[in-house]
Order: sequence, then C-alpha cells, then structure tokens
Amino acid sequence: MDTRIDTFAEISNLSEEMKSSINDLFENGGILKGKKVKAICSELSINTEELMLLLLPVAECFARAPISSFDVGAVVRAKANDRDVCSNLYLGANFEYENLSLNFSIHAEQAAVSNAWLNGESGIESIATSAAPCGHCRQFLYELSGTNQLPVIIPEKHSKNIIKIDIQTLLPSAFGPEQLGCEQLLMRDNLDVGTFLLNPLVDDEFVLQVLEQARSSYAPYTKNYAACGIQLKNGSMFFGRYAENVAHNPSFSAFSSAVSQLAMRSVAKNPLIISQSAESNFASDFASNIKRVVFVENSTLANQKQTAELLLSNLAKQVVLDYYQMVPKNGK
Ligand SMILES: [Zn+2]
Repeated sequence: MDTRIDTFAEISNLSEEMKSSINDLFENGGILKGKKVKAICSELSINTEELMLLLLPVAECFARAPISSFDVGAVVRAKANDRDVCSNLYLGANFEYENLSLNFSIHAEQAAVSNAWLNGESGIESIATSAAPCGHCRQFLYELSGTNQLPVIIPEKHSKNIIKIDIQTLLPSAFGPEQLGCEQLLMRDNLDVGTFLLNPLVDDEFVLQVLEQARSSYAPYTKNYAACGIQLKNGSMFFGRYAENVAHNPSFSAFSSAVSQLAMRSVAKNPLIISQSAESNFASDFASNIKRVVFVENSTLANQKQTAELLLSNLAKQVVLDYYQMVPKNGK
C-alpha cells in the first residue's frame, strides 16, 4: 500500500460506482463524504485509516512542486459529529511558487486541514501523510490539537507497515498556544471575533462573502483576521482564511489558503480519467484563468497586504489585488 501503483490497482478493482466516487475527488476539491467513505471501506473490507492511506497517492496528484519535484499528499479525517456516521475525509497537497523564496511553499498538511476547515468542519480526528510531517507542519498541527492527542499516520517506505504516532510525541516539549496565553485553538472553538465592517462600506456580494470568511479566520495573537477570495473567468469562486500560529512562521496566509483551494480544483494529473469536466481541464495554467482576487483583513501591526500582492503578481501578473480593510464595529 505504499506505492501509487498499488493504490490505483486497488481502485481499479472497485465497482464502477465506487470508482466514480474516487474520481469525484478530482472534481469536488478532494472531499470524500462519510457515506462514501463507509461504502468504499465496506467494499474493500478496510477501515477508515486504511482508506486514508490508500488515498494518499490520490492526494499527491494535486501537488504542484516544480522546485522540489517532491509531491506530498495528506488526508484529514474530520471529527464525527454523529457517531453513527463516518467522518468526511479531506485531501490536501503541497504547492510551490516558482521564482519566489521557498518559505512561501504550501505544505500538504496545511492544505488538507484548511480544506476541512473551509468546508465547515470543527475538528480533526486524525491525519495521514505520504511523508513524515516536517517540523513546520508539526508546529502547525500542534496549534490545532493543543495538548490533546492527534494521531498522525504515516506509511512506512517499502513495506505495508504504518506508523501511527501522536502529535505530542512528534513534537516533544512543544512551544504551544498556551505559552502565549491563548485559550482558543484552530478549528476547535467556535470563534467569535466580534462584528467587523468594511471601511469604507462596500456593496459587493463577492467582497461581502470574503468578509464573512475573514470573520471566521484564526488570528488570536495579532487579531489580523483575514480572508481571500479568488474568482475565475468561468465564475467559479474559491475562498481562503488565515490560520495563525503561535510560532509565527507556520502561519497559513489567507492568500495561500485560497490558492490551495484553487489547486485542489485544477488537478493536472487525474490518473483515473473516468470523466473529467471542462472545469478541471484548465489544469496546468490555472493562473491565466484568474479574473479577480479580493482580500479583506483587519490590518493591525501584522498585515498581509504586501505579501498577498507579491504572491498574486507571481501567480497572475495580469490581476491587481482588490484590497479592503475591515474594522471592528464601534471601533472596539
Ligand atoms: Zn510540512
């Protein structure tokens, strides 16, 4: 189960209906709903964790790693709200910006967690990754789990064995949110960041949607609540939210969060090719399909405007960042 060939051989043994559920991952942004998780597991006689491992090479297909040529896939299992229903699974992959410094790279674990968060999940049960999480990702995941355990599942190279290890063991003596007196945790708490208004007020539906996303962002240290929306020429819209980190550098910017969502809808290498919609055909040069990028933030001592402009000019030179500031209502 540790090679892509094995995975796709397994998938090719599935019934047409289940195969099509896997193929849908290439069309729906890498989301496998609990009902389908249950059906596939039962058809293959495997459990959810084994399915997560099986899906890692599928997640890797979303990777864009022109610099390292090292594709990474991650699969997140969301917390089950109803114990009788299987949790939804969310895929993520790494993304590298060409001609920029490496520290802007998006890691697969961040993309998968963000995918679950943006799609309404309020927690993570476990995460599987195609390679051991790097230190940056361990720190990112620690923000999510805090002092609670989060199982990380990693396939062992050249064997069918898996390593299952919790985040505390992967990051001993961690510098965590509690060190800065933060009681909130990424995803876990129903955050109430207060009421924010655009300044100046704007009556633009897309901008207002981005504002709503910004209000759900996670910025306990700086209050730099931020979100980004990308609109394509075909009308499709993608949103990203800022996920701050106590160790600063592993923070996931709102712009990159939106880009990772876009990358999850524009995979160039669907090896199943059972069906491929016109939308996913824009694949390799998706940047030329970007029509508008809206950015909304509560600009504090930390802000993301210049970084977003830089990343956008790298990705889609023809587009100018449509930037808005939000401010606390009543000036609080
Ligand atoms: Zn990483």
